[in-house]
Amino acid sequence: MRGIISRYRDLMPPEIQAISDDKIVTLGEGGTPLIRAKNLEEYLRTQNPKFAAQVWLKDEGVNPTKSFKDRGMTGAVSYEKSIGRAAVACASTGNTYGSAAAYAKKAGMKCFGLVPEGKVTPGKIFLASMYGATTIEIRGNFDAAFALVKQLKDVGVVNNIHPYRLCGQATAAFEICDKLKRFKRVPSYHFLPVGNAGNITAYWMGYTLYNKMGQIPFAPAMMGCQAEGAAAMVLGRDIENPETEASAIRIGKPARREEATRARIESGGRFYSVTDDEIKEARKLLVETEDVFCELASATSVATVIKLNRFGRLDFWKMVTVVCTLTGSGWKDLDTAFAQFIPQKSIVIEPKLDDVMDVIRSK
Ligand SMILES: *Cc1c(COP(=O)(O)O)cnc(C)c1O
Repeated sequence: MRGIISRYRDLMPPEIQAISDDKIVTLGEGGTPLIRAKNLEEYLRTQNPKFAAQVWLKDEGVNPTKSFKDRGMTGAVSYEKSIGRAAVACASTGNTYGSAAAYAKKAGMKCFGLVPEGKVTPGKIFLASMYGATTIEIRGNFDAAFALVKQLKDVGVVNNIHPYRLCGQATAAFEICDKLKRFKRVPSYHFLPVGNAGNITAYWMGYTLYNKMGQIPFAPAMMGCQAEGAAAMVLGRDIENPETEASAIRIGKPARREEATRARIESGGRFYSVTDDEIKEARKLLVETEDVFCELASATSVATVIKLNRFGRLDFWKMVTVVCTLTGSGWKDLDTAFAQFIPQKSIVIEPKLDDVMDVIRSK
């Protein structure tokens, strides 16, 4: 199985390059679709007739455990395995834990997830348990779990503070540039949901490296997108009790605040916040226009584009290239989806051909 490390081996840090391909723990992560969102562009034009930008969606929900976390986990778990560790642990709002559990199982290691009690979607806990991991619920929020996990001894802590996680996540930026190059495009703006601020740091690492190597003539402005009730980067201070239904980004004390701030300044980007209602609207619109079903947190990027377009805040009237990352799949976040989408009632009939045909003709 080929994952991101084998594909971008030359761009990995020496410590990862020192691990041979057969010792790399991979589930075949990366290589995710970058979709030109023409129907979404059409919608944005109805909102603002001057809209002339291209919008591309990087669908990270198709990774092995259905979020971008897999890109980082292959490096982190491979490294912990290579130094002989028997167990990994993480604090998580769900996706890091699911990913850690899967990669740990592949490596024959134990996995422990410290999660905020009652605040992680059941699908994510289920996934991790299925992979044999141990769930430890903390009577507190993610930030409390994270403060704890950092103090653990003798286990590999695979949160985004791990030295070899972000180098893997940076490969998403390489993939985007590689694909857009075929269309003679370079990202102008990159919109990304931000929680603990690791991924925005990783993307910026990736883009700056590619820029330095001459693969892209310029790097995009990094646009960090947060939920209004958990907008620690927008406000420029930590939040004691972050609140949002987008549970993957319900984080009040971003671990990579400094690096993410630097990414914003160096790239000429900004942090924005949107309401939970705007996030839900965007998620629905993504299903309707582009057939992509992402989790709530992921829709924050598109919700921000919609909001900025409505107010004409950016130069979207130019032929700029906008990339939005959809960080995770909707299939692990079904309870919020059930609450939002009213399922169509099924039609119950006798097992008769005429009755089936009646239904078909009636539609
Ligand atoms: C982890 C995660 C985020 C936030 O990424 P950070 O690196 O913590 O900023 C956003 N969306 C989803 C779906 C995630 O799993």
